[in-house]
Amino acid sequence: MSGTSEPECIFCRIVRGEIPARKVYEDNEMLAFHDINPVAPMHFMVIPKRHITSLGEAAAEDAGVLGRMLAMTGRLAREQGSPEGFRTIVNTGHIGRQDVMHVHIHVIGGPDQLPHMVPRA
Ligand code: 5GP
Ligand code: ZN
Repeated sequence: MSGTSEPECIFCRIVRGEIPARKVYEDNEMLAFHDINPVAPMHFMVIPKRHITSLGEAAAEDAGVLGRMLAMTGRLAREQGSPEGFRTIVNTGHIGRQDVMHVHIHVIGGPDQLPHMVPRA
């Protein structure tokens, strides 16, 4: 479901300024802010300002903003201290262990190399 703003959604509340966040970037359609519980030295999230529940619910009308969010990650990762690459993760739904039901791209990185996602033999 793609709405405009959900009263109880924690990320919509961050967009509305009701909950503070350490902002990384903002424009008219997206917001990037540091994760409150980082798993690496650089860990921020990019979200659409408009409430989109998850990739599982995303529709054709959401493709533009989702694409522009992805396209922004490289610039923001360079600015945030991970110029040689990073990892993007979008957890989706129950199986993907999505905790906050407002779609978000985790951007995780440096300065050191991240562990492999799939352990090597
Ligand atoms: P998920 O598990 O849904 O992919 O990720 C949700 C992420 O949001 C978690 O990494 C969690 O630390 C982060 N998070 C949850 N609540 C807040 C908050 O109020 N502020 C910030 N900055 N991050 C949050
Ligand atoms: Zn929301």
